[in-house]
Amino acid sequence: MRKIVLPLFVAGALFGADVSHSHPHHWSYSGDTGPAHWGELDPEFFMCKEGKNQSPVDMNRFVKTKLKKLKATYSGNARTVVNNGHTIKVETMGRNEVVVDGIPFNLLQFHFHTPSENTIEGKHYPMEAHFVHKSKDGEVLVVALMFEEGERNSALDKVVADLSSKIGESRPLKEMFNPGDLYPRKLKYYRYNGSFTTPPCTEGVRWIVLKKPVTASKEQLIKMNKLMGDNNRPTQPLNARLILK
Ligand SMILES: [Zn+2]
Repeated sequence: MRKIVLPLFVAGALFGADVSHSHPHHWSYSGDTGPAHWGELDPEFFMCKEGKNQSPVDMNRFVKTKLKKLKATYSGNARTVVNNGHTIKVETMGRNEVVVDGIPFNLLQFHFHTPSENTIEGKHYPMEAHFVHKSKDGEVLVVALMFEEGERNSALDKVVADLSSKIGESRPLKEMFNPGDLYPRKLKYYRYNGSFTTPPCTEGVRWIVLKKPVTASKEQLIKMNKLMGDNNRPTQPLNARLILK
């Protein structure tokens, strides 16, 4: 497992600029700075240890309900890409909106984990993408998309076309594309309440996990894992939660 020492500006930067300057402690996915220790690395990471509604989870305790149809109105673009040492992250621009609980959430960025972080009845997928949305009031909603091995994914090619394993700054994508191009046609989903899966592990995050995986080729999946390493936080206890389906 490679150990990555991160410059300060990327520590905790997964969820936007609001947390990127205040954490001098770097974190990783293994060893002394791995997930089991996140809660002790920085006082502000205490939720990683104390939280009762943490992500990811194994989805195994379901309650059947009538979930509203998920409507994604994506008319913007994927704009820049960066390997920040934790993940490959694509920043987006324009109006890419989902409405949940009557609240519009706009897409800020999406990024990848190999293997998947959330699991479905104990099953890991080889990759999971997180589409991180924010409401006007700062509430966070993540749409999680699973990848399985199969046909080559052309949208994914545009993400990694110009990307080296070098950890660095965002670069404009050579070819912009609509982030909705990654989604399956049918947006059936599971839903639960959770957290960021990276420090500071903030809770109150709405999780929408799409039931239908999309495909990526074996080569693409291997390449993503090579670029990022294994960057999945282990699943966290459900505690009092149920998964809506
Ligand atoms: Zn994530």
